[in-house]
Amino acid sequence: MKHLELPRQPLGFFPTPLHELANLGRVLGGPRIFIKRDDQTGLALGGNKVRKLEYIIGRALAQGADTLITAGAAQSNHCRQTAAAAASLNMACHLILGGSAQKTANGNLLLDQLLGAEIHWAGRHRKGEDIPKIEEELRNAGLQPFVVPYGGSNELGATGFVEALRELDSQTFAMQIDFDHIVFASSSGGTHAGLMVGKKLLKKDYEITGIAIDKVGSAEKSLPELILDLANATANYLETGFQIDTSDLILNENYTGAGYGIIGEAEREAIRLTAKHEGILLDPVYTGRAMAGLIGLIRKGRFKKNEFVLFWHTGGAPALFASADELSM
Ligand SMILES: *Cc1c(COP(=O)(O)O)cnc(C)c1O
Repeated sequence: MKHLELPRQPLGFFPTPLHELANLGRVLGGPRIFIKRDDQTGLALGGNKVRKLEYIIGRALAQGADTLITAGAAQSNHCRQTAAAAASLNMACHLILGGSAQKTANGNLLLDQLLGAEIHWAGRHRKGEDIPKIEEELRNAGLQPFVVPYGGSNELGATGFVEALRELDSQTFAMQIDFDHIVFASSSGGTHAGLMVGKKLLKKDYEITGIAIDKVGSAEKSLPELILDLANATANYLETGFQIDTSDLILNENYTGAGYGIIGEAEREAIRLTAKHEGILLDPVYTGRAMAGLIGLIRKGRFKKNEFVLFWHTGGAPALFASADELSM
């Protein structure tokens, strides 16, 4: 497989733990629920972007880059993990964040500062619209900048999740279990695309269900189109010889609530239940919403009692503190 030959910069601690959520399973009265702990990938409080960054930064270093540039929301987990990766590799990091300078930094933004990232405030441009300008300035200053795509979602980032399924496969083999479903938060598409390609490559039958976090994809494409295109770009890049088509894609868009980052009762319940019964922290934007989706599907009778469901924890808990006002009781 081609991805074994790609330059990969080790950044995280793998394999991440895989274990059962027996209490939550009992409380919800549904299927057996397991969790894959990508909140424990290492690198300044962890998260799913570490897997993507190993391949993306592998290429950056192969090209001689000394500076990383990326973009996101003020509470972006992706930006924080990129800043941590840069720090550990002695690279500079420029983050282009939506919004404007805040009096007191909290959550991921505080961590970005501690990790030494240079922050550029971009107003409404939270998806990297201002990257070309800053890239040019850095180049003119004699640096070798490398642009990490939004959310780390290109074919290299997705390759991190192809590899993640191989990791999962060896864990389930050792534990003598098999999953019927994998459920996770889907947003910029890299996690979802990588899991779809990995499933086909490994010839698995589990259903891969992304819970959409946001209603919109990009300006040009809907989220399903974006995920499918990225999955095919990844399959093609890895020379798998197969295609991914619409019938392979399961994206549940019923849990987007009032929009990106707006915490509703469903997210609050999911965060509290998982914390109280399992001692595990979810985040308000992604995993809280994805768990709310899983809980909703269990209550609708979507899974059989004897089925095995894996919740892929993609990280994000540092953002909890920036939402203290909405989460405290
Ligand atoms: C980025 C992120 C996701 C979404 O992953 P994508 O590959 O962008 O779809 C989910 N959860 C958390 C905590 C994230 O930071």
